[in-house]
Amino acid sequence: MNYRSGRHFLQIPGPTNVPERVLRAIDRPTIDHRGPEFGRMGLEIGAGLQTVFQSKQPVIIYPASGTGAWEAALVNTLSPGDRVLMVETGHFAVLWSRMAARLGLQVEMIATDWRHGADPTAVEQKLKEDKNRSIRAVCVVHNETSTGVTSQIAAIRRAIDAAGHPALYLVDTISSLASIDYRHDEWGVDVTVAGSQKGLMLPPGLSFNCVSEKALAASKSAKLPKSYWGWEDMLSANKNGYFPYTPATNLLYGLQEALSMLEEEGLEAVFARHARHAEATRRAVRAWGLEVLCADPAEHSNSLTAVLMPPGQDADRVRTIILEAFDLSLGTGLGKLSGKIFRIGHLGDFNDLMLAGTLAGVEMGLALAGVSPRGEGVRAALDYLSECARTGRLHAA
Ligand SMILES: *Cc1c(COP(=O)(O)O)cnc(C)c1O
Repeated sequence: MNYRSGRHFLQIPGPTNVPERVLRAIDRPTIDHRGPEFGRMGLEIGAGLQTVFQSKQPVIIYPASGTGAWEAALVNTLSPGDRVLMVETGHFAVLWSRMAARLGLQVEMIATDWRHGADPTAVEQKLKEDKNRSIRAVCVVHNETSTGVTSQIAAIRRAIDAAGHPALYLVDTISSLASIDYRHDEWGVDVTVAGSQKGLMLPPGLSFNCVSEKALAASKSAKLPKSYWGWEDMLSANKNGYFPYTPATNLLYGLQEALSMLEEEGLEAVFARHARHAEATRRAVRAWGLEVLCADPAEHSNSLTAVLMPPGQDADRVRTIILEAFDLSLGTGLGKLSGKIFRIGHLGDFNDLMLAGTLAGVEMGLALAGVSPRGEGVRAALDYLSECARTGRLHAA
């Protein structure tokens, strides 16, 4: 391998670019996870996480990828044979539903065309049809990372309430937390699932469950087998800032730093920054003469944009050309979107010029691949970013 000078552009929608401050925080000697210094850090992190989840409820941290926290959400709240209602927003929703089926749950799937989010009306209809209230949980992916579509979590809460249904509400925010506005308490979510390597700007390896009172009550009688994922031991140790087994201490150093950075920037500003970069990206895509996969402007993702290839063009060929020519990694098409789309991640530790560089790489790659010779995308994005800077608005919608 030849040395490639300069910084690699890691513009996949997770893992995201890990900022220097987080890397330096992780690069410290590991301490005794049962000592006083650790306990203080554990309590501080717990409080910081509550701010990010917009919740007063406990946030449990697992030394695991996001998939582990998916499993934790299910096994802590449900029993074998329980019915769960899920929405097939894309590849990640499919993976979560497969996991639920493997765990012995009866999964009912509401289909979508993978270009729209979860439809609150369809959820309400399914719940109304469930006369004997046998559906125990509704599971929705907030930001479907495989499609770049964001579902309306508050509207789905209202749909559950409109049906007068007691089901738990479980939401995957792995690629939206700390990037797109998300409110665990206000939106009446029972378990929020999140991960470290996307909006939280950390390396992979941590994941989270934020749990409501109702979810905690359900966990007392839930019968699916659980041990490593069990909330009870976690919550009792967490009260003093500790863990029931060895935590990922150095990733927690990084998390402490990332939480400080989010606090310094302010969550509102973080969300506005992601909205601005998403809008600039969409303007570039349209100027290239290409289509954004998400079909509903109210559901555009602020953390990534999925770009649809013209018929007969292979998205992975374009990605390969861009990686080789410009050292820029883009997200591949997952599941049935394989080869049909590429995804531009614009979440985490990111700024206007990093976006400009990313879009320049995509634009040159599209021209090299003979997909889109129209070199007006970067111009459109820069005009928009300049307009935002001139008006002093972080996000000129
Ligand atoms: C990344 C992602 C996952 C999977 O998380 P892992 O950390 O890879 O286990 C699940 N859901 C969504 C929405 C994601 O973006």
